[in-house]
Amino acid sequence: MRATFEAWVDSHQDQIIAETQKILRIPSVNEPESVGEGAPFGKPCADALEHTLALCAALGMRTENFGGYAGHAEFGPEDAPEMVAMLGHLDVVPVGSEWTKEPFGAEIEGDWLFARGASDDKGPTYAALFGAKAVLDSGLPLTRRVRLIFGCDEESGWECMRHYFEVAQQPKPDLAFTPDAGFPLYYAEKGSFTLTATKPIGESLVATFSSGLRPNMVPDEAEVVLIGAPDRLAYIAKTLKRKRTFKVTDEGDKALRIWAKGKASHGASPQKGINAAQKLAEALFDLFPEPWLSELVERCACDGSGIGIAGKDEITGPLTCNVGIVTVLDGTLSMTFNVRYPATWDESVLERAQASLTSDGWTITELHHTAPLYVPQDAEPVRTLLKVYRDHTGDRSKPLTMGGRTYATTVAPNGVAFGAGMKGDPEVAHRPDEKFSITRLLFCAKLYADALYQLANC
Ligand SMILES: [Zn+2]
Repeated sequence: MRATFEAWVDSHQDQIIAETQKILRIPSVNEPESVGEGAPFGKPCADALEHTLALCAALGMRTENFGGYAGHAEFGPEDAPEMVAMLGHLDVVPVGSEWTKEPFGAEIEGDWLFARGASDDKGPTYAALFGAKAVLDSGLPLTRRVRLIFGCDEESGWECMRHYFEVAQQPKPDLAFTPDAGFPLYYAEKGSFTLTATKPIGESLVATFSSGLRPNMVPDEAEVVLIGAPDRLAYIAKTLKRKRTFKVTDEGDKALRIWAKGKASHGASPQKGINAAQKLAEALFDLFPEPWLSELVERCACDGSGIGIAGKDEITGPLTCNVGIVTVLDGTLSMTFNVRYPATWDESVLERAQASLTSDGWTITELHHTAPLYVPQDAEPVRTLLKVYRDHTGDRSKPLTMGGRTYATTVAPNGVAFGAGMKGDPEVAHRPDEKFSITRLLFCAKLYADALYQLANC
């Protein structure tokens, strides 16, 4: 079988490269200005989906577009009860600055194909698409149907998969992979939730406090405005002006503005950053010990102990907790926690976090949860995919786990992230001059063909 797929890819190289360039030239960044009927994330994302589905239809697959949120292409026995799927995303993050190449030019230089989305995730997705075509053209019998699922909102709100599975009520695949991470494969992804809670702070010197922009980033700046007796404020100003990481400005005789600098980090590794809100609250508490300030400091603990949920498992390691947004407005403190919890834990961690807050007078105002993914290493699809990877590469590296999140969580526990990065690859995703190797593109088409075929018959 493998030789058949390899021969197909070898004789269709030009087509595979040309079609990958075409999809890379569609600037499928989320674009609120052009949202409309059939284009819930804007026109470019809708175009990328329509273009891809039209290609799949031309290649002989049955296609369906679900309102521009997501779509699929399918082949294999229509009446087969079970289905194997590849899930890839066609949206990309914004271009950003410092590019030396045309971000949507899909220029080729040597072995590299340059474009936003080349490696994340259009290149790997198209490798799987043409791998699927190699299986289709082989005419080999399939026990399960094969489905290619394309989403358009992976980089933003994940409405694509919610729509596909919950609104459009599409069945969960029985076995699946997403080519949106690295090889050999990721069999566990932490669960995560984002929770916002509020509490009145009572009489306070603090008029406003604000820190952080996004739940999943460690805030690197925090600012507070104090209003109070001039001599008291003068004392606070004098003390803080001696410290380098604080900036103090007088705002008239009864107000003082203080600005603190921390260090940004991704919300999945809060211990690598310095939470500016926590740091500022700590400094303020030393100067005027209002109880809510020390509570704020404690609740910011990176290990989740501040909301009673610290812990770890053997598979994905310790829970992490990032307090990404902190505000005080009109006497109310609001904190937004972004928690990633061990993959083998269940949802009771949510209840424990909520209870730790509500029992202390907090109100939960917002809660979003994503369940973890954990596929035991001796279960499918891990067994088959690992075997395919090892057959094709000779690399015996162990499967991996991650704190982040891929489409695999939406089909848990039936799917894993499988490729297309490899150890030693340059870090290019979300960065300027994103690129994907043409050698890898063709290699992955062969490997994904074999993977889809094996999964369809295992
Ligand atoms: Zn991605």
